[in-house]
Amino acid sequence: MFDSFIRLVREIYQTNDFIPLHEPRFAGNEKQYLLDVIDSTFVSSVGPYVSQFETKIAEYTGAKHAIATVNGTSALHVALLLAGVKPGEEVLTQAVTFVATCNAIHYCGAEPVFVDVDTATLGLSAQALADFLVEFAELRGDGVWNRLSGKRIAACLPMHTFGHPCDMAGLLRVCGGYGIPVVEDAAEALGSFIVGANSFDQSSEIKQAKHCGIFGKLGVLSFNGNKIITTGGGGMILTDDDELARQAKHLTTTAKLPHAWKFTHDQIGYNYRMPNLNAALGLAQLEQMPLFVQRKRELAERYITWSRQAGVEFVQEPNGAQSNYWLNALLLNDAGEREQFLTDSNAEGVMTRSLWELMANLPMYSHCQRDGLLESHRLAQRLVNIPSSVVL
Ligand SMILES: *Cc1c(COP(=O)(O)O)cnc(C)c1O
Repeated sequence: MFDSFIRLVREIYQTNDFIPLHEPRFAGNEKQYLLDVIDSTFVSSVGPYVSQFETKIAEYTGAKHAIATVNGTSALHVALLLAGVKPGEEVLTQAVTFVATCNAIHYCGAEPVFVDVDTATLGLSAQALADFLVEFAELRGDGVWNRLSGKRIAACLPMHTFGHPCDMAGLLRVCGGYGIPVVEDAAEALGSFIVGANSFDQSSEIKQAKHCGIFGKLGVLSFNGNKIITTGGGGMILTDDDELARQAKHLTTTAKLPHAWKFTHDQIGYNYRMPNLNAALGLAQLEQMPLFVQRKRELAERYITWSRQAGVEFVQEPNGAQSNYWLNALLLNDAGEREQFLTDSNAEGVMTRSLWELMANLPMYSHCQRDGLLESHRLAQRLVNIPSSVVL
């Protein structure tokens, strides 16, 4: 199995050199737009590429508004603030995620509460969330309160793991029952759509394809160097709400009141606006999205064919979803087999890595409340990410 995996990856990437997990591809107008920005001198946070990139992302995702930020973490921070997360409150999220999800919660002065994920989506489980809320949630006039901690549950923050869409219909139904606002961490999911009823929910209200990140009150994208498209560093806040969009723009641009020469700020804002230089790169990258998604899905197909022959479990898109297959993953039989696979493949110059350490195990979040996290622990033992760069 292992030898055929190494052979396959070397054949896919056509090299005997080191094969990274994920590297960016610049095959379009990147250089042209970047030179244009340098010639214009507008390299910083004012410039036409920023609003163009926002418009194109809004068109691509179907979001009414898109607000560009310096990175995905800052986008999450502001999205959570706008969802109403305040110091001393709690945000329900998954332990299977990148640390930025939890750090953004902490930046708001709030704390994560960890709920288990689904096997099929690797994202927050609607059933586990419902069970958690039945056990701990108390509906009061001023919101939902956690009976155990005595804190208000301010929001729910599911994450679309490796680009595979969460069960948004299920999560929205559960959260809707308690009036809990949903913010989606779609950092990994540009190019991923939910297309209809899924395996959990045959009666889904989602009847037409919708992009990840536009189901909740707000959603967030990342354009870090390892994501499906990159701006170097960058992020985006998505929302259909006109007022939230206005506030997102205001908060991320130091809360400055528009004026030709006066510098007045009406609250404590953030210097989170994406620079024009990065947006130019992003615009060129976005033009290649259809190609990138197509090639990503072809790559996943090759892994699927191999995994069937090799008798290995490959993480496929959930029913009712169309994934961008940002980062491919195998589920090996147990921790021992996984450890061997990681050691051997990295020794062979093929980069593979284990799932992120569960957030609930990190020292900063080890005191946070969690449910049994049964499936999260199983994934943490068995999952391995394999090379996923776009093949051009
Ligand atoms: C990449 C990522 C982010 C945002 O990361 P930035 O590097 O700040 O753009 C947030 N959440 C998840 C799950 C991510 O993978």
